[in-house]
Amino acid sequence: MADDPQLAELTRLIDRSHHTVVFTGAGISTESGIPDFRSPGGIWTRMAPIDFADFLASEEARRETWRRRFAMEEMFRAAAPNRGHRAVAELVRRGTAAAVITQNIDGLHQASGVPADRVIELHGNTTYAHCLDCAGRYEIEVIRRSFERDETAPICNACGGFVKTATISFGQAMPPEAMRRAETETIAADLFIVAGSSLVVYPAAAFPELAKRYGAALVIINREPTGLDAIADIVLRRSIGEILGAAVGID
Ligand SMILES: [Zn+2]
Repeated sequence: MADDPQLAELTRLIDRSHHTVVFTGAGISTESGIPDFRSPGGIWTRMAPIDFADFLASEEARRETWRRRFAMEEMFRAAAPNRGHRAVAELVRRGTAAAVITQNIDGLHQASGVPADRVIELHGNTTYAHCLDCAGRYEIEVIRRSFERDETAPICNACGGFVKTATISFGQAMPPEAMRRAETETIAADLFIVAGSSLVVYPAAAFPELAKRYGAALVIINREPTGLDAIADIVLRRSIGEILGAAVGID
């Protein structure tokens, strides 16, 4: 560590912190084999995402949404938490990190052992589905078996509402409860660690600015430059698993 001043500084900030908030984006999950949909060459530069209004308006849009989701099922099912996720989980376990705010929809923080009530999902979760009207929960595998029979988009058994993955689609409002909790945690943070987000998607990208305004130290770990590098205390253009794993002391 003596010859790695960035690692020494990150370790010092973590050891001094009583209320860390970790903010994660696609970059932490690419190390688990989940592609960054927004990156150049990513899925959304090749295939326009389906807008929420279209999902509501059109049976064909709903069908296409589900076809695309099932096409990705094997990848989501095979993905396991990596060293970066484990380092974050360890910070929560120790009581250093109070919350994980994530833009990811893959559920890998929960899979790595972070209690679900400590994970604030700004873009929802794709590992299960729910009814848009009554919020009843549905498992992806159950929907897939039925969809494969006749390609009918799923309808809620209880109320007849549309069933959709529990993600926030383009054109869909940000989840108010998650946004409120994320803001409260951010304001309380003494250390705010961004891991794997280029901080271009608002309103999510406003959280690091808010943390900084309320006196937190800001650490940004991301391969590419971000719009907030200038206000960060440390910018680490390195592997999240390696640097955070080393700083927290887990493999
Ligand atoms: Zn329902």
